[in-house]
Parts: sequence; C-alpha cells; structure tokens
Amino acid sequence: MLKGYVNRIIPFSFVDGPGNRSAVFLQGCDFSCKYCHNPETINMCSGCGRCVELCPRGALTLSKEGIKWNSGLCAFCDRCLKVCSYNSSPRVRTMTMEQVFEEIREALPFIEGITVSGGECTKQNGFVTELFREAHAFGKTAFADTNGETDFRSIPELTKEMDKAMLDIKSSDAREHIMLTGSSNETVIENARYLASIGKLYEIRTVVVPGFLDNFRTVDFASRLIAPYPEVRYKLIRFRKWGVRGPLEEFPVPDDSVMEPLKELALKNGVKIVEVI
Ligand code: SF4
Ligand code: SF4
Repeated sequence: MLKGYVNRIIPFSFVDGPGNRSAVFLQGCDFSCKYCHNPETINMCSGCGRCVELCPRGALTLSKEGIKWNSGLCAFCDRCLKVCSYNSSPRVRTMTMEQVFEEIREALPFIEGITVSGGECTKQNGFVTELFREAHAFGKTAFADTNGETDFRSIPELTKEMDKAMLDIKSSDAREHIMLTGSSNETVIENARYLASIGKLYEIRTVVVPGFLDNFRTVDFASRLIAPYPEVRYKLIRFRKWGVRGPLEEFPVPDDSVMEPLKELALKNGVKIVEVI
C-alpha cells in the first residue's frame, strides 16, 4: 500500500475547484515561489529539532525516526511553522489512501469531488492516482491543483484518472519565471497546451504582482494559449501577502485599476470565462 506525505486535509472547501470539495494538501514542491502562501509545504522536515523546544504545548518530540507530532496536544498556533527556516512543517503525516478517505468520510455525501494540492501533488503521483481512483469509486470527481512542473505525458496513469487540472501560468517569460520560482516555465506551458488539447484543463491561474512581474505580458500570452478552448477558465489572482516570506511581504494588494485591464485583455484575446479574485 502506497503512503503519501500529507500536510493537511480540509474536508470542505469552496475555493479548490468547482463546487464543494475536500482538499488534500501534500508535502513537497519543486518550485520555491517568492509569493508562496504556504511555504511550509515546500520541503520535507530535516529533523533539526528547533520547533520542538518552542512548542508551547509539548506536542512535538524528536525521535530517531524524526519529529513526532501529537495532534491531541496541538493548539494549532502555527508557532512551529513560523520558526522553521527550512520551509517545512513538523505536522506532516504519512498516510495511506484509506486513511485519507477515512478522514473525509463524513464529508463525502456533501462534496462534488476531491482536489489534491500542495506542495506539488504530481511529485507523489502514484499516491495521487490511488486517491483519484478511490474518489471515482465513490462517484466523486478528481482534480489536481498543480504547478505544471511534471510533464503529464510522463505520468499517464495519473493523467488518465484525473478529471481536470488547475494549472498556474506564473510567467510567460522564462527568465522571469526562474526569478520567481527557481525553475523554467517550459514544461508548464507545454502541460497547459497538452492538458487543454485532451480536455483535462479546468483553469489556469496567474497571480498579479504589479511592480514585480510583467503581468500584462503573461496574461496576453496565457489568454491566447487557452482561447481556442472555451471551456477553460482564466483566474486572475490579486497578490496578497498572507503567509508570504521575504521581499514581497510588504507589497500591496493590487486594486481594480490593475486587475480590470488584465481581465479586459484576456476577454479581448478570446477567453470566455475570466474571474478576478
Ligand atoms: S519542521 Fe522545521 S524546525 Fe521543525 S524539525 Fe523540521 S526542519 Fe526543523
Ligand atoms: S501548532 Fe506547532 S507549535 Fe503550536 S501547538 Fe501545534 S505543534 Fe506546537
């Protein structure tokens, strides 16, 4: 039985795809985005033990196998996340597919499907494939929220089980993408084309950070890319500093004078559904 590294599970979410969904956030990401809202999902815990001493409830212990977290003692104060300079969390659990579904069992009659997010869910593609298969066995839909860094052609079982993907196009420019994430955008863009062509792209997203990213260039490129697929939505997301660490912490939230022209551009380029959040 495969096991996955699970950062957290939200049994009811209205913001992780269509309808009411259970969202499963996995640990580990191959990007390191400067505006990441949940940087504690990026790396696996190194076992340094720093957070153990600072936990006010004694919920953490350091053992030979690494950090152990006692959820019964935890106050969910997030102090451990704030002190971790390694972009990790001591609260990551190793779970089987059955354990994940046991945790969302009470939500199942009321949800449309599950969304697996991260971190980057395709890094644990075997585990995610099992989750998707089980979701379908319950008559639920299975969505992936992905950074697009793994070529979906190279993970055909997951791609087959997945109903749709939600994919970030963070920047259309390779150099800007590397500056923002630490990685090139080549595979991301190829994935957007491929998933749209096989009817498995639900939406693309771009986070708008004026003064830091050339958002106009990215929205122009990305909207032309998805325009031939009228069912694919474009979500334009205002940068918000919540959870962000580093130089962008003090950047402002862009107002409508920034967002509306970008929305107009996407509509003009032929995208049928554009949402600003
Ligand atoms: S979560 Fe971070 S601070 Fe805590 S033991 Fe792991 S790496 Fe160290
Ligand atoms: S959130 Fe972290 S620091 Fe706070 S009580 Fe739980 S384990 Fe301890």
